[in-house]
Amino acid sequence: MNRSNKCLFISHCLLAQVVMAKGLVKLSPAIVKQVVQFCMDNDINIFQMPCPEFLCAAGGPGRNARGKGWYEKNGLRETSSKIAKEQAKYMVKLTRAGLEVLAIIGVEFSPACATIYLNKGRSIVKGKGIYIEELERELKLQKLQVPFIGVNQRWKRKLEKQLDEVLHGC
Ligand code: SF4
Repeated sequence: MNRSNKCLFISHCLLAQVVMAKGLVKLSPAIVKQVVQFCMDNDINIFQMPCPEFLCAAGGPGRNARGKGWYEKNGLRETSSKIAKEQAKYMVKLTRAGLEVLAIIGVEFSPACATIYLNKGRSIVKGKGIYIEELERELKLQKLQVPFIGVNQRWKRKLEKQLDEVLHGC
């Protein structure tokens, strides 16, 4: 059987909601099924990136939800930078081996993994999470272009459309 060359890098919590901050798990108890089903239906290899908030010394299991500003002062950039370097190198290795990294899937409103929208308490603003910023920087240094997609489980239709775009170019 031929192996599929298609790869997706996804935020850790899409396969393990247990790493999320307290009070944020509302729609999926463990995995985000739409993302996994999409990969199964289209023979896409899933690469689960480590969770920056979980690994950050100020984060970890059972942490309270915090904003980007708080994490900026409490070590998330350093943790994110380390993870981003490793993940970018991994992507380079895969592409050099002839595999295709279709996209990186982050999670909107996360202070680490948002790709377009951040939650500022009472308002939603445009902005990227700290980990996504670091990963973009590393990919630029490595001269590798990979599209970013930010998902939100509440936007069901949009999620389906975004996943479809992964296959047909963003
Ligand atoms: S930091 Fe990223 S991987 Fe970790 S829980 Fe938040 S969105 Fe998910």
